[in-house]
Amino acid sequence: MRTGIGYDIHALKKGRKLVLGGVAIPFNKGLAGHSDADALYHALVDALLGAMGEGDIGAHFSDTDPAFKNAGSALFASKTKALLKRKGWSVANVDAVILAELPKMGPYREAMKKNIARDFGIALDRIGIKAKTNEGFGAIGKGDAIACWATALIEKSTKSEARSTKQIRN
Ligand code: MG
Repeated sequence: MRTGIGYDIHALKKGRKLVLGGVAIPFNKGLAGHSDADALYHALVDALLGAMGEGDIGAHFSDTDPAFKNAGSALFASKTKALLKRKGWSVANVDAVILAELPKMGPYREAMKKNIARDFGIALDRIGIKAKTNEGFGAIGKGDAIACWATALIEKSTKSEARSTKQIRN
């Protein structure tokens, strides 16, 4: 088994759509970034890549690559899902925290979980999402940014893990 941790933060700006967990959330500001700036998906991708020992989101999906300009983060998720499969990993669970002063995330939590289940290939009961405010502190507390933390636990059958360890020794 391996664990990974991921973190992401994006600024909230007028004139941008707010997309978190693949859900378009009605709000007067949205997250700014090269892609759709879905901080929850980005934190999850980093947690899963970290667990696999595969670097980070920037190494796989460069923010200067025009192919990813305004890209839906579902693309990053599906590429991460494919890498997990190719390396023989399955996801035991992921857990995430959204830090946002506004809007309230509760009404969108189930839709986010469904999107994550579909795009990352993780069973619904293996996905946790919590939402907290930052109690008014700092940029997040002022409503200038939204941040997300995520952890992932991935597992392999003992046989395939033994094989990959042997490959490293050789
Ligand atoms: Mg990001």
